Order: sequence, then C-alpha cells, then structure tokens
Amino acid sequence: MSEPIKHLPLVFEEPRGRGKPPIHLADLTPAERKERLIELGLPGFRAQQLSRHYFARLAEDPEQMTDLPTGQRAELVEGLLPKVLTEVRTQEADRGKTRKTLWRLFDGALVESVLMRYPDRVTMCVSSQAGCGMACTFCATGQGGLQRNMSTAEIIEQVVAGARSLARNEVAGGPGRVSNVVFMGMGEPLANYKAVLGAVRRMTDPSPDGLGMSARGITVSTVGLVPRIMELAGEGIPVTLALSLHAPDDELRAELVPVNTRWSVAEALDAAWHYASVTKRRVSIEYAMMRDINDQGWRADLLADLLNARGNWGWAHVNLIPLNEVPGSRFTRSRDEDTAEFVRRLEARGISTTVRDTRGSDIDAACGQLAALED
Ligand code: SAH
Repeated sequence: MSEPIKHLPLVFEEPRGRGKPPIHLADLTPAERKERLIELGLPGFRAQQLSRHYFARLAEDPEQMTDLPTGQRAELVEGLLPKVLTEVRTQEADRGKTRKTLWRLFDGALVESVLMRYPDRVTMCVSSQAGCGMACTFCATGQGGLQRNMSTAEIIEQVVAGARSLARNEVAGGPGRVSNVVFMGMGEPLANYKAVLGAVRRMTDPSPDGLGMSARGITVSTVGLVPRIMELAGEGIPVTLALSLHAPDDELRAELVPVNTRWSVAEALDAAWHYASVTKRRVSIEYAMMRDINDQGWRADLLADLLNARGNWGWAHVNLIPLNEVPGSRFTRSRDEDTAEFVRRLEARGISTTVRDTRGSDIDAACGQLAALED
C-alpha cells in the first residue's frame, strides 16, 4: 500500500545533526542486541539480562544489576544502556497527578514528555522529534521548526522514565504503571516513521524484550501524512490513530495545518477511514476549538457529513480540544456555548464526540504548548 519515498515532500528530509544519538538496546531487536555485544567483544547472552534490567526491572543504577559480573558490568552497561536522556527539570500540576519533564538529548536538543494520572489509567505523552517541521499556526512547537528526529531509544526512554517514577512512588496516587502512550508531545510522529514504529514495537514486545504494553493503549497522532497512514495500516499493529483535522474545509485547514496543501481534507479522511477499516480501530479526529475561527455550527455539520459519507459504523470519534492559548498567538479558545453547540450538532448526526480535558495547561504541559524552553 505504501508509496515510494520519492513522492514524499521536502519536509521529510532529515536536517543534518551533530552526530547520532548513542545506540541503546531499545534501538535494537533482541537478536541485534546480542550481535552488538559480540561486536564489542562481550558475551551475547548478557543481552537478555540487560533487557530485563531495562524493560522489566526499570533499573538505572548498574550497582543493582548484580547478576552481571562486576568486572564486566560497566562495559555491558556502556555497550547497551548508555544514557540517552538527561533530566533538566520536572514540573507538577493537578496536585502531582500531571508531571512535565524537560529532557536534554546528547547533542543539547531539548524535548518534553508529560505523565498524566487518571483514576483508571496513566498516560505518557511523548515527543518523537526535537521541534517540529509541520508549522501548524496555532501550535507552540510548530513555531520553532524542526531540529531533528529522535531515535527509538530516545522515545522509549521517556516512557521508561515515567514507569520508573511511578514504580518508585514519586507520582501522587501511589505506585503504578504506564498503561497508555500518546504521541502527542513535540514532533510529527509519522515524519519520523522508522524510529516511531521501532518505539511502538518496543512498547508492545512482550517483557523482557520490550515493555509488554497493549497496542490498544498506544495512540499515534498525525497532521495527516497520507502515505504514512497507509503504511501504518499495513504494519499489523493495531495502535489507535488520531488525525489532527481542526477544520472540515480545505481553505481554513490549509491556514491552520499547512501540510493540507499537500494532502487535502478528503485525502486525509480517506486514509483515516482506510486505517479504521483495516485495523478495526476507531480513529480519533482531533479538533482544537478556536473562537470564531473553526467553531461555527456549519463546520460541525460539514464535519459530521464528511465522516458519515465514509461510513456510519462508528469508524470515527471526534475529540474536541479546548485550544490551549499560546503566547503571542492570534488564536483564542472557543466560548463554552459554541463548543456545546458544536458537540450537539455532531451528536445529532450520530458522531460520538468528547471534549478533552486540559491537563497541565498551567505548567504549559497541554497539547500544543510544548516548546521546551530552558529558564
Ligand atoms: N504532530 C502530531 C502530534 C502533535 S500534538 C499531530 O499533529 O497530530 C497533539 C495534538 O495537539 C494535535 O492534534 C495538535 O494539532 C494539537 N494541538 C497543537 N497545538 C494546540 C493548541 N495550542 N491547543 C490545543 N491543541 C493543540
């Protein structure tokens, strides 16, 4: 189903960085982890022990890895468990149930992740790129451009760090586990396809080769890179797809989400429908509610009609996001009554709709607010 790379636009070209992130076992399949140790002149069978320390025990300190011979421990850990993220700071909100962490990567690039604890689940919102090249006009991350793609290990380490802080009882509400991961931090995950897919595989691989999570708990959110949506549909991993639509008409969407000039609303929705049909997973249509911009009743009607035209078996769910206001931006949040009317119109046409909460907006941790600035 996937189209050849030559059809992809220039925004996919990876900017030249200063070197590459260190190779970590999370970048590798179990067989490759063994090979790497052997290349380093170390015993291959140690790879599985290292994987267990990383994915199952969530160990960080080599001193705790007492099943590794003391004489070789440092070399083994350097070989497969190099430090890929350095914590710069963590901010808390919602009485400790929301935690945003700023990370420095090996080359100085900064990214953020957010842990959100709910009564029934813990969701980690992760970044997949340092910066973002999609330039959505209402998004803080989009204003700074793309620095570089993140590696699989840099993505996975955000989840593992969240899992560690839960296991260590550092998060309000007692010890717990990460049940959900959303690629809604910085970056366009499908513009870093290979590393993101690797991260999804590491999350779903059974323990101790991976984190043993359910694919159903993972959401990949995209501006609508159509060929990559089609490719993802063919991978056989039923992750949830979220399509950031934000407008049902090309004229407005092109202003909000510039990639719309490459793939239109109709093309993005067709790809989303294809994804839902192949994976049997309901697609989430993301729609940030902006006052007097995209929140008129006729746009709700049009959105519902476009979704229903592609099938009325509940293949799509609309998730309205109250806009998180970005300093200096001309966009403001919709009035509550306009949001309520938008919901009413979608539901009247049979479209299931929710309004997302705005966890962490007071620490700039909500959708579209991640700018990774150092104080
Ligand atoms: N690049 C991916 C992930 C981005 S962040 C994507 O576009 O889907 C996740 C969601 O937050 C996207 O739906 C994005 O459009 C939305 N978002 C961006 N800025 C926002 C803002 N200021 N307020 C509310 N949602 C925003």
